Amino acid sequence: MTTLSRRQWLTGIGAAALAGKVSPSRAGAEPAPQSQPKPKMHLELSEFQPKSMLHVAETKVPRSRFPVIDVHTHLSFTASHQNGVPLGEKMSYPAPPQEVLEVMDRKNIRTLIDLTGGVGEGLEEVIRKFPAAHPGRFLVFTEPWWERANQPGYAKFQAEEIERAHRAGAKGLKIQKVLGLYLRENVTAGPLVKVDDPRFDPMWEACAGLNMPVAIHVSDPEAFFLPIDRFNERFEELNNHPDWSFYDRDFPSNEEILAARNRVYARHPQTNFITLHVGNDAENLPYVSECMDRYPNMYVELAARVGELGRQPRTARKFFEKYQDRIMFGTDAVPHGIQTPQQIYGDELYEIYYRFLETEDEYFDYAPAPVPPQGRWRIYGLGLPEEILRKVYYENAARLLGLNA
Ligand SMILES: [Zn+2]
Repeated sequence: MTTLSRRQWLTGIGAAALAGKVSPSRAGAEPAPQSQPKPKMHLELSEFQPKSMLHVAETKVPRSRFPVIDVHTHLSFTASHQNGVPLGEKMSYPAPPQEVLEVMDRKNIRTLIDLTGGVGEGLEEVIRKFPAAHPGRFLVFTEPWWERANQPGYAKFQAEEIERAHRAGAKGLKIQKVLGLYLRENVTAGPLVKVDDPRFDPMWEACAGLNMPVAIHVSDPEAFFLPIDRFNERFEELNNHPDWSFYDRDFPSNEEILAARNRVYARHPQTNFITLHVGNDAENLPYVSECMDRYPNMYVELAARVGELGRQPRTARKFFEKYQDRIMFGTDAVPHGIQTPQQIYGDELYEIYYRFLETEDEYFDYAPAPVPPQGRWRIYGLGLPEEILRKVYYENAARLLGLNA
């Protein structure tokens, strides 16, 4: 939608409500004294920051009830990308370990998992910098060599690289949405490579053999596959980042991507998949539940989806009760990650997650931002019992990763 048409829409439909200048129905009231009607105010949606007038409990949870393993953070990145595909072994770091550790100690975080540990020499550097220098506090996952996916012998090479990464100290494999949405037959050009392409089968099997869980993010929120228009509940976010939309061009549908992912789960029952962002479909917990029931090797974590879970607290609470042994704590935190306010690593972010899991507070912000960044709504706490909290905060992750709880 263009700025102009958005403005027209606001003028036509939204402005009256937004401006707060319209009298409520005066039925039964004295006729208003004659005066000049005030002109309607115009207000850009982006400037609308309503303050809740609810008088409800506000619980501050500065430390989690139990020690935390955050299974989804990004403390390192492959430095160079083309068309969404990471290239090369050189890594970049949003913050030094010391800065990260200070927050961990304040927030009762025992261990952070850095999922984007890269490949080859880059991976070795990340392992030296984080887990080797601070044992027990950090774990690192490796990634596929996407840029070699079109070369002859890739399937065998990739399986061997998983073994090499494991020897170097990688604890798991991270799959970014590169698979399904960016990686193409000629790496950055040509048709998209399917999530269940058989060339990756030896890679999934290598992970099973080495007991390395696969943290997998394929597809994206349902709204990212719909037009960026006034009916899109994530309009502002997509309007700010139009390149996050997979609505048109040659992208498959959300359903097709998730179905291909499910075929991978069925084909590799010995491989454990931590399906990131609540199974990549937190908007549709009935569907995620169906998948959890069908694939015992499927686990989930919460990262960047407390906004989704917390707006359906009764359904979410039932989901936590039913799958309490397969849900892990994750945030997708990125130090200084200002592009995504719901993921900025720091005290505020963890306090929101703890409040969501531990309290029954009502109608609070799911992100440390003046405007809810993933859609204009607020959330409700789940008030989970201690037994479930303990599992979600660390027990499930410790078991899956073979750590000493
Ligand atoms: Zn992430």
